[in-house]
Amino acid sequence: MKPPEAKILHIKELVRHSIPGFVEKKSPDDEFWLKIYDLLYGEKFPLTKRAARVLLSTLLQCLPQGAEIQLLNFLKKLNMKERARTYLEPLTFSLYRHLEPVSDPGSYPDRKYFYLGLSFDIDNKIDYENLPVLIEDMKKNGIRATINIITHGNYDFDKGWMRELQSNGFEIGLHGDDHNSSLSFLPKRVIEHKIRRAIDKLGFVPAGYRSPALSFSNTLIEVLEKTGFAYDSSLSTCLAMYRSIEFPYAFKYMSSTLYEVPLCIQDYNFFASGRYAEQEVMNIYRELIRQMHQIRGLALINLHPIIISKKILFWEGLLSLMEEYKSLSSQATVSDLVRDLKKRAAY
Ligand SMILES: [Zn+2]
Repeated sequence: MKPPEAKILHIKELVRHSIPGFVEKKSPDDEFWLKIYDLLYGEKFPLTKRAARVLLSTLLQCLPQGAEIQLLNFLKKLNMKERARTYLEPLTFSLYRHLEPVSDPGSYPDRKYFYLGLSFDIDNKIDYENLPVLIEDMKKNGIRATINIITHGNYDFDKGWMRELQSNGFEIGLHGDDHNSSLSFLPKRVIEHKIRRAIDKLGFVPAGYRSPALSFSNTLIEVLEKTGFAYDSSLSTCLAMYRSIEFPYAFKYMSSTLYEVPLCIQDYNFFASGRYAEQEVMNIYRELIRQMHQIRGLALINLHPIIISKKILFWEGLLSLMEEYKSLSSQATVSDLVRDLKKRAAY
């Protein structure tokens, strides 16, 4: 365990390197720095939740795939109903009370002050089958997204199409060998085995990783670095149902080459329970993106084709919102964002 002084030193340094174009307004006290340290490095999932997930994933492996998806959707709905809040607003994060913006060249790709990007998690066959239409929509709108795939699920990603997407500027990231929601809580050698088997099937080491159901542990980060990934994107900043890290910026892990690019928000937390109307969700996203722009943050929005293909109004609204922000934001893929950050860190 690191002594508090070492934690404070580390986190001050991390904040200075990671937050674009801000300086400290007044010197925060030690408690403040330790809180940020805990948000970034502390345990994200309580022991009970980890144990429940491990049990559940063992049970799911015994079910046929169709039943597995149905049970998962049912559990997600249950999880949603017990939550009063779906999202957090970036301006409520405690960090900004202590910071003020300065004029400097923007530190996202294309020297922008703000990042707005899309990722898609392809959990199953229905996601995979609904992806091509969305890809065409994005191409028409000049948008390039990160597509996170499962290598040993119930669909086979066409390798020819994968290469075509990559040559068109899309990024292929890894979402797991299968959709095991307890992956990060398994023993290190099991995590490593599963990740290596996914890489073998892909035929290359992708830059990025997003764990199924956003499970997260420091062991996962160690394995990702060891197996050659450049970044993880399994933490979240505005989702109330997961533990938000309240730090909407990319940062490099301590004594590691690995970056974290937290996702801001995703579709199913709004749509899976069916309690939000499309226009309402669009209004919430518009407001969250406005706030993210104000704090020069990273608005990475995660989507699932199985949901978005049925929410046309929302999808079209999101595409035109990205168009509105075109000159104000970097809309690079996540791997391009990380490559750019690494290049500048080297100077
Ligand atoms: Zn998933």
